[in-house]
Amino acid sequence: MERAIVSLVAILLQTVAAGAQDRRVGLVSPFLALDRRFPEPPARPNDLMSYAPAPTARDPSLPRADADATCRALLTDASIVTTPHAAISGEGGCGIAAPVTLEAVLLPGERRIEIAPAPVMRCDLAARFGAFVRETIAPAIDASGRKVKRVITADAYDCRSRNRQAGAKLSEHATGAAIDLAAIEFADGSLMRVTDKTADPTIAESLRQSACARFSTVLGPGSDGYHEDHIHLDLALRRGGAKICQWALK
Ligand SMILES: [Zn+2]
Repeated sequence: MERAIVSLVAILLQTVAAGAQDRRVGLVSPFLALDRRFPEPPARPNDLMSYAPAPTARDPSLPRADADATCRALLTDASIVTTPHAAISGEGGCGIAAPVTLEAVLLPGERRIEIAPAPVMRCDLAARFGAFVRETIAPAIDASGRKVKRVITADAYDCRSRNRQAGAKLSEHATGAAIDLAAIEFADGSLMRVTDKTADPTIAESLRQSACARFSTVLGPGSDGYHEDHIHLDLALRRGGAKICQWALK
């Protein structure tokens, strides 16, 4: 009887000890679960769609010339300063039926940000890029305590193949659907190349996130070797609305 009680007590003690161990595991596991949450998975472009859509869209179901003309007629946002450009026709699918020249973007308080050299492009790209300057670039620079004077672009409309490679597909530049962003000039005349490794990382990250939400294709450093000194932005249409966001900040 006595032995039975001792055995029972021993079993009880083992059970309690095991329970305590279980509880210890139980205490530890939430931290493990927490650890497992880091690092966060890379953000997908779809996670960034909280940005406002472009003010003017181009209807891809219309014939190209009609889509360009209708879009230009709808581009009435006074904060995006454009001038109509003569139709451009080129060989091999190049050209824009109703191009615009994007001159500047206006901000509250009579601030004017020049786009230089003023690029020629499709009107929906002008609307999209103008909104990017107004809603992302200017506020990001303002937050850093500086002021934007000019947004410096590189290639805009250009009748050429992708990356100027012979035999490659027609570039989005060839239909006015692409713009290359090179640098930002501040009010004091200094310049920040957007691809510069020493560029303010907060500014660079907000530009990258916003660009990847707004444009179908974003190619920068780390993408393919052709975009180490500028950011390529375009409105390529892909099946299922797929996007390409390749701009490594480090
Ligand atoms: Zn480009």
